[in-house]
Amino acid sequence: MLLSAEARGETPATVYIQPLGAALADADVELVVTALREVYALSVKQLPRVELPAAAWYAPRKRYRAEKLLAFLTDRKPADGMRILGLTAVDISTTKGKVFDWGVLGLGDLDGPAAVISTFRARKKARDDRHVRERLAKVAVHEIGHTLGLPHCPNAGCLMEDAEGTVGKTDTEYDLCSRCRTLLMEGGHSIPAMPNLPWPKP
Ligand SMILES: [Zn+2]
Ligand SMILES: [Zn+2]
Repeated sequence: MLLSAEARGETPATVYIQPLGAALADADVELVVTALREVYALSVKQLPRVELPAAAWYAPRKRYRAEKLLAFLTDRKPADGMRILGLTAVDISTTKGKVFDWGVLGLGDLDGPAAVISTFRARKKARDDRHVRERLAKVAVHEIGHTLGLPHCPNAGCLMEDAEGTVGKTDTEYDLCSRCRTLLMEGGHSIPAMPNLPWPKP
């Protein structure tokens, strides 16, 4: 059985946060950092802000293609980083099934090095800034979950449920379910059993 870095007595793995384009509020970034530390026990480091790559711009819908942002982020991941997470406020999209350009909250490749998340769709019908921030942090846990090998989960309330384009789904979610926790452990990622989650129970 594989043991996590922590179980082997090494320092925890690092995820780098890369702000893309206009800066998010400090409080938004902080909640994402807290969520990743609590749920995955990752060490989180921030990179200096960079502009969005022109190559990812999708002119017909005036937004950025998330999979192109993942390629950009992958190239920028420092060698000591296990993953890199892009944070942006612009609308991002990707191809989903038969829909070529589908707006998303975030995107992360299964077992991939990079994920990207956006506040743009998290703002929809949000009560206030805190609500937007909590949704963003849950999406961060979801997308990093994909990069750690977690597929979508059928269990209601699990952070790995497929949002299917509806940000309201995140409002019904709270933690990773036991099925997802077991999958992570089998993949060599041991995570805290009782995370101190920075959002209220739905
Ligand atoms: Zn997903
Ligand atoms: Zn689950």
